[in-house]
This record gives sequence, structure tokens and C-alpha cells, in this order.
Amino acid sequence: MANLKLSHIYKVYENGHKAVNDFNIDIADKEFIVFVGPSGCGKSTTLRMIAGLETITSGDLFIGETLANDLEPKDRDIAMVFQSYALYPHMTVYDNMAFGLRNRHMPEAEIREKVLEAAKMLDIEMYLDRKPKAMSGGQRQRVALGRALVRDPKVFLLDEPLSNLDAKLRAQMRTEITKLHKKLGTTFIYVTHDQVEAMTMGTRIVVMKLGYVQQIDTPMNLYNKPYNKFVAGFIGTPQMNFFNVKLLRKGAKVEISYPDGSKSEVDYEVVSKIHNSYLNGEKEVILGIRPEHIDISEKKTNLMATVTAVEHLGNECIVYGVLGKASDEFTMKDEGKNIIIKTLEGTKVEVGDEIYLSIHEDKLHLFDKESEVTLLHAIPPYTLVEGEVKGDDLSLFGSKVKLPAAMKEAIGSASKVEFEVPPSAVVPGKDYSLKVKKIEDVDGQKLAYLVNGDRYLFALVDNKVKEGENYSFSLRNDKVVVLVDGKVVLEPIGEQEFVVGNFLKKDVGRNKVEFYYEVEGDQIPAPLENGYKINAVEGNNCYKKAYRYVFDRKSITLGEQGLAAHVEKVLDYGNQKYASLKLGEQNLLVEVPNDFAKEEVKVWLNGEAFEVWQQEIDFRIC
Ligand code: ADP
Repeated sequence: MANLKLSHIYKVYENGHKAVNDFNIDIADKEFIVFVGPSGCGKSTTLRMIAGLETITSGDLFIGETLANDLEPKDRDIAMVFQSYALYPHMTVYDNMAFGLRNRHMPEAEIREKVLEAAKMLDIEMYLDRKPKAMSGGQRQRVALGRALVRDPKVFLLDEPLSNLDAKLRAQMRTEITKLHKKLGTTFIYVTHDQVEAMTMGTRIVVMKLGYVQQIDTPMNLYNKPYNKFVAGFIGTPQMNFFNVKLLRKGAKVEISYPDGSKSEVDYEVVSKIHNSYLNGEKEVILGIRPEHIDISEKKTNLMATVTAVEHLGNECIVYGVLGKASDEFTMKDEGKNIIIKTLEGTKVEVGDEIYLSIHEDKLHLFDKESEVTLLHAIPPYTLVEGEVKGDDLSLFGSKVKLPAAMKEAIGSASKVEFEVPPSAVVPGKDYSLKVKKIEDVDGQKLAYLVNGDRYLFALVDNKVKEGENYSFSLRNDKVVVLVDGKVVLEPIGEQEFVVGNFLKKDVGRNKVEFYYEVEGDQIPAPLENGYKINAVEGNNCYKKAYRYVFDRKSITLGEQGLAAHVEKVLDYGNQKYASLKLGEQNLLVEVPNDFAKEEVKVWLNGEAFEVWQQEIDFRIC
């Protein structure tokens, strides 16, 4: 039994192919984790790195509390089951199962006990004397499972174990593996390209695409709250319907324009978390709706489709159609109008019928057309708000405040400005006050809907804030985006900062070395562990090139020690002040006290806090 932790795991193959990018997950003891995604997305590579069959290019793998990157596969206490079974053909089932234990010189009596126990659990006791070739695919896969089982591993790794079996057997083995997992109480990691397998077996699922993790979530959350269009389309059969639509706010309603020209409406409340710039009726967005969330209506609705095919499955009926009236000849233009509806059997529809549809508003998904990321985040990343500038005054949320100098400079002479405000930038304070319409619990965080005219400003608040009351707040001006005429004139200040510099090793006495990050001529001590890691990943090339060192802005200290830097400018954000520093050829932005007025400073960077990034392939080494 064990928990696992994968922290910033990368795999770069020798040909330079980045097969796995920044894979992070904490796997609790006894979880059943499934890696799912199309062929080539990096599932097996990740599993093989956990097993120790593939080296980890960078990142840390913990099995239990042990850093396991360099452990031999046999020392990882892990058992792996492959698609190909990998049984020894000349050995009996018993001997196949006993093989690993004999190699470990376990007494024969103990081996017998373990093999019999596993055989019983897997219902293959009667085949122990057979050779694998005299068994069916399903039985062979059980033997392969049995061989893993007898070793009492801490973690089971299964790589597409069922893909050689026929559909019926697969379904049966799925249930059996799930039962086995429950019975053993061991951590399972299971790789498959089959979303049904993933959804039915996993306690949590990792959806991957092209070497990147798309979402890690429970089956229900993947189904209900897919992070992007890829996950939305990958999970669920028949696939979610996608249409390019336009959205237009009309008071308490939002009008949806479909590709066939038809229009329907949903309550604004349903999409109130969407960034306001998507509601002007101009920007195309992708609407997603699952076939099971569309009803065929008896009454006339605004959304109509023509039926092109009907599939009766006994208990349910899949209706295929195109939005609007079907053209005589199907053209490429019609492709974006295809629609699939899942209804109960008994619905009377035939090919050629014109049917009226209604969609379940609360099951609607919206994705950005370029990034394909959801537009309906549980916690909206930004809310767009409008303000007015007159001289040094800013009118915002019905209050007037002094415009901070950094903003004033960016805004110039414009009078109308917009701000994109992340919920975390709304902090308790005295500048503004808005009424709390509603408070929602999002995974333990309290999201408040503050009434700002006919829209909401979203804020994360504590338990003391109540619905119906007024909430007094200020803004972290350094965290908001400032726009004039729809163009960004001021970016928020991020949490991280970086410098670029070389890396070096010093021999200091007998077999002792020290490593340093060399930044603008200064040598910053590097943790020994990181030094070895960089060297292991990059070889001796590492002393000949520059790396990007990323750290928390908060870890920068100004004081008596460190690198000499020139203060180019002080940026005043009202409640926060930053100094823009020139450090040799590099720039650094650091938060400074309100009364800061220096021109030259010493910057102390903490090498312990550096993340080291390889710049050519762009991955985090440590
Ligand atoms: P999956 O298991 O999701 O099908 P893999 O982990 O097997 O995907 O492969 C991920 C990517 O890495 C693929 O593009 C594959 O071609 C590539 N790849 C796998 N093994 C190697 C290798 N030894 N050398 C170079 N590229 C590889």
C-alpha cells in the first residue's frame, strides 16, 4: 500500500520529442487512477517512468516517502500488468505465477500458499497445471494479474490490460479488476484509451493529450465540468454536440444564435460567470450540449432540426439530424449543424421529420473558440468592469477613489477604462461597497456574487460575509488588467519573477563539490541536490549554457547584501508599490515599502527558492 507523488515530471526522448510535460499528481493510498487519452498522448511513457522501465528526464517521483527516480524497477515494490500478458509459454500457470517469488528465493511452501490464494481470488485454480497456450485470452490475462498479485506490491500498474479481449469479456474483466482493487486495498494505476473503461473504473481520471495533462478529476466532474472542449468531447457517448454560436445579452436573457440562423434564449443567470466580452453578439464561441441533455419537444420551440437517421437501441433511441431544414445536398457548410439527441425509446421520430428541440439550460457548456477552454469556470478567472477617469479620480463600483499613479500613466488621457478583476484581487477594504446577491460554495471556497449594475463582480470571501448584506472592499490594483478601447494597457504583476544565468561547479577539497547559479557575475549557492540533478539531466553541457531561474517575487530581499541594482522607476499601485530594477542586463520587479525612495539597492536572491528551467526545450529540471 502506498501513496505516490509525481512532481513536475517531464520525459524528453533522445530524439528531442517531449512525450510528457509537467505531469503533477498526488495519488492517495488505495486510489484507482486511470490515465486516459488517444494513442501517443504519453500515458504509457508516464506509467513506464513510474515502473522504472523508462528514465525520468526531470521532476520527482515519490513512492510512499521515498524519492524513487533512480530506484531499480525491482526495488520499487510495484507490479506491472501488460496488454500482451508476457507469460512464459513453456511454463504452467502455477510456475508462471511462482516465477518471480522463486527468483526472490521465497520458501516453496510460502510460494504455494500465495499462488493458491491468488488463483482462488482470480478463479483460475482449476488451470494451474495448464500452459498458457491452452487458455483463452481472458484466462491468460487473469494469470498475468495473478503473477502480479502474488508479489503483494504496494502499487499495481496496468497498461491497457484488456485491449486484447472481446467486448463482452472486457466488460466482465472490468468489473473483476474493480472488485480486485476493492479487495486488495492497493493503489492501482491503469492506462487505457477507452473512456468507458476510464469512467467505470477510476476513482480519479487523468485525461491526457499530446503529452499534456488536460484535467485530473473524478468521473462525474469530468462529465459535468470538463475543463476544455477536448475533455468534453472525449468523455461521454455519443459525443457532446458542438456548435459555433454567438451570444447576445438582452437584459435578464441571453440570446444564442445557432449556425442555421435560429435563435433561442437562456437566463442570464446561467451564463453570468462568462466574461462580458463574449456577450456582445459578435464573438463566436463553441456551445457544447450532450445528446442526453436535449429534449424533443411536443410544442414549437425556437430550435428546429431535421432528422437524418434514427437508431433504436432497445432502451434508448439515438436521433441524428441537422439543425434547421436539411438542404437537399449535404454540403461541408452543413457539417457544423449536425446534432445528436439521445431520447427514451418510444419517441416517434422518422427520417425526414422536422422536430423541435429544447436544451437543458443548466447543462450547457461554452468554450472559447481559439483556446477551446471552458468559459464557465466554477470560479471565473476575471470579471470585466467599467470605470471612468477624470483627472486623478477614478469612478468605479459607484465610488470615487484616487487613481494610482501606475494606472494613470498607462491610461493616459482616456476617460473610459475597463478592468479585468480576478476574484482574488477583491480584498476586504474601504474603497468600495456592493451588495452580496448570493454566496456559492466552490470546493470549500466561498464565491460571492456582488451586484455591480446589471452584472456581477465575483469575489472570494470568508464565512462572515452574508447574502443580502453590503460587502466593503478594495482592489489589489497590481492584480488587475487595465484596458482602454478594448486593448490591454497594463498587465497585472505576476507572483513569479525570473533571471537568466549560467550554472557552475566548484571542486572544494577531497571529493567535495559545490554548485552555483551565476547571475550577473554573482555566484548564488545552489542546493547540492539540484546541482546533481542538472548535471544528471544535461550532462557536462550544463556548465556551458544559461538557464532560466524562476522564483517567487516575494523571495527577493532588498538589503545590505547581494547584487547591486539600479532603481529605474517606482510603480505606485495605491496599496502596493513596486521598484523596477536593472540588474546588469536584466530587469526585476520587486515589491517595496510605501516610503521607498532609493536609487541604488542590493538585491539578495535565494538560490534555495530557484526553479531551474532548461531554455531550449523549455522544461523544468528542478
Ligand atoms: P500512449 O501510451 O499514450 O499511446 P506513449 O507514451 O507510448 O503514448 O508515447 C508518447 C509519445 O512518445 C508518442 O508520440 C510516441 O511516438 C513517443 N515515443 C514513445 N516511445 C518513444 C521512444 N523510445 N523514442 C522516441 N519517441 C517515443
